[in-house]
Amino acid sequence: MNLEKLEKILKENNQPQFRLEQTKKAIFEDSVSSFSEITTIPLDLRKRFEKEIDILSFEVEKILVSNDKRSAKALLRLKDNNCMESVLLSPRPNTWTVCISSQVGCPLGCEFCATGKGGFKRNLTSEEITDQILFWRQYLNRKKFPALSNIVYMGMGEPMLNWENVKKSVEDLIDIKLFNFGSRSISISTVGIKGGIEKFLAEFPQVNLAISLHFADNEMRSKYMPANKAYDLENIKKDLQEYFRKSKRKVFIEYIMFDGINDSLGDAKGLAEYLNSIGNAYLLHVNLISYNKTSGEFISSSKNKIERFKNFLLQNRINATIRKSLGTEIAGACGQLTGK
Ligand code: SF4
Repeated sequence: MNLEKLEKILKENNQPQFRLEQTKKAIFEDSVSSFSEITTIPLDLRKRFEKEIDILSFEVEKILVSNDKRSAKALLRLKDNNCMESVLLSPRPNTWTVCISSQVGCPLGCEFCATGKGGFKRNLTSEEITDQILFWRQYLNRKKFPALSNIVYMGMGEPMLNWENVKKSVEDLIDIKLFNFGSRSISISTVGIKGGIEKFLAEFPQVNLAISLHFADNEMRSKYMPANKAYDLENIKKDLQEYFRKSKRKVFIEYIMFDGINDSLGDAKGLAEYLNSIGNAYLLHVNLISYNKTSGEFISSSKNKIERFKNFLLQNRINATIRKSLGTEIAGACGQLTGK
């Protein structure tokens, strides 16, 4: 929602300040889908808004809903015709989480990721990022579902590479006069970018941090995640040590499991050693994620192997859980977003 434009229209129409508050409340709190629904403002003003401004900065191209109704994926067409995707998930009954995109595509080209394979188009603006939340709030409101409770920056793109827009978007999400989310209901995931974690902690000490690690061996990580060549496991370790010097908040380690690539007991041992070497391992929590098939050589590890991997980590004082993958059939799961 372009608030500056909204204010401008109100000024041009000599409207009192409270009209802005009424309109903001209707859009951000009541999640109206159109200006015509804002009956608290005069009809001619509603009509002027409808003619001159859009609530969302994109058109909704399509929405796919999974058979179990626990996930939905939206393909969103931006004003410049680029497309991005955004995903709604229900990890538990009556709980909704949105996985939002921060870039159109991604420049980091992880081998196993459909987004990375599609290349990079551009950064999303802060408005395009937060409009994904407005859109899903409207969707839940229309369906009379419970309100959105969590937001994760784990869709298309690497958030730390679009830091200024991501930062502004988080500021708006936690602004009590706008989205009014608690910092702790927001998580940002990164593969580890120079200066990224430091800036993140300085700005948002209460927002959750997740590291997309996936490999605890530099050679393997560089092979499948080229970003590791520029910023490797040692750099990430130092960042986390610094993070724990300043904060005692839990950090999530995302680990997608690929059959025969990173799922052996040797890999589990390597991961446990790496995480224990960081110190404060009790503040680390590993999420083991079954790989979602996109294309190419990768196959998901079997349930047994994932269970065995988890048990090894637990025996070696590393907190770990297996995260259920939602949205696989609609290609809305981790690493499956393509913007098509
Ligand atoms: S996994 Fe994340 S960082 Fe890697 S290419 Fe995909 S979106 Fe980019």
